[in-house]
Amino acid sequence: MRFEISKVLDAIEGRVCTDPSLARAVLDLAEVIRYQNLDGGRPANLLRLGMVIDALARDLEEDSVPVYAIVHRALLSDADLTSNERMVVRRWADDGLVEVLDNPGDRMLEVADLLGLPVLSRARFDGLRGRFPWVVEQPGRVLAPVPGAGGPVFIGHVGGGNVPIAGTRSATGAKLLARQWRCPEPGCALFGGGGGGGAFADLAAVERAPAGQPPPALRGGVPTCPRHGARLGDAGPRPRTEVLAVRVGGLIRRRFVLTEGQSVLVGRAPEQQGGIVLGQWLNDEARRWISRGHVRFELRVGEVIVTDVSTNGSGIRPSGSMAEPDRIPLKPQQSRVLSANDMVELYPGVQIGRADELPTGAPFTPTSVMAEAPTMAMRLPRP
Ligand SMILES: [Zn+2]
Repeated sequence: MRFEISKVLDAIEGRVCTDPSLARAVLDLAEVIRYQNLDGGRPANLLRLGMVIDALARDLEEDSVPVYAIVHRALLSDADLTSNERMVVRRWADDGLVEVLDNPGDRMLEVADLLGLPVLSRARFDGLRGRFPWVVEQPGRVLAPVPGAGGPVFIGHVGGGNVPIAGTRSATGAKLLARQWRCPEPGCALFGGGGGGGAFADLAAVERAPAGQPPPALRGGVPTCPRHGARLGDAGPRPRTEVLAVRVGGLIRRRFVLTEGQSVLVGRAPEQQGGIVLGQWLNDEARRWISRGHVRFELRVGEVIVTDVSTNGSGIRPSGSMAEPDRIPLKPQQSRVLSANDMVELYPGVQIGRADELPTGAPFTPTSVMAEAPTMAMRLPRP
């Protein structure tokens, strides 16, 4: 049992990140894991985070959706969690996958404002609506997870709406995210060189890429480390990035960040570190067709370049057109600049394109991050 729960927590670990390009909603971890009504279980349970992430994935009709979690420091020693859960949260903190704060205050809304993300919370934010008018003005920006028939669902008890909606990054957010920042505190997991980062566990072991740094806090207009309260140093321009998405069978299975100067290999099981593994979503025929490393992506002067490195070749779907005559073959070793709405097709139904331009939502339900949870942990209230 203990082992199975550990596996679920590992899966959930792949869905927490502070990367501005990948996080899809902001939440307060303590609030979520203490929301007993979600499953009627013990006072605090880390698996509730998985339930809320699943609900978000269902609403966004995407797999592998990560959340930006703000964590009060007291949670790291919360006696209502199991020792295993405390250990996991501490690891997330050390790796910079979550933001641990002595006093979270209005940080959740600040992050949502800077990044244009929805907030998943039951709080009403009465005193903050003047500073963050979108709380009431944009339906879907603040939604409360509540118990539903098949797990949590979201309701907008402040600004209305029931599906999480992204806004746009604020002007300040865009300005802050154009630069890299350094915290003077040694080993700072958020703004140091030593912490991990990225949305997925396989990236957590590598040094945080500058492009994946969280947004600084603003204190009196000064970029500040939200964890240490120290003024951040400007470490130069942040590398340019583009967010790409993998769609298999009509559903986006995961997003990944392409950073200027760092190529990313995508295939059945690429050997390159940071490669995007598709194997788990492919049927037998697709597995036979798609090479271990099939296509390589690079970002050069803002242009996405795809190179086929496979045995069988790929195709380009110009402007996402699914009409067969429009498909442009991409032969092994051929390269091509990906225009705005173009998709690369590795095999029928297996496509990669810019995340914002790739429609998702097929007659599929996203894979649950809780898939391996023992039934005991999944005890849900009757509708
Ligand atoms: Zn710091």
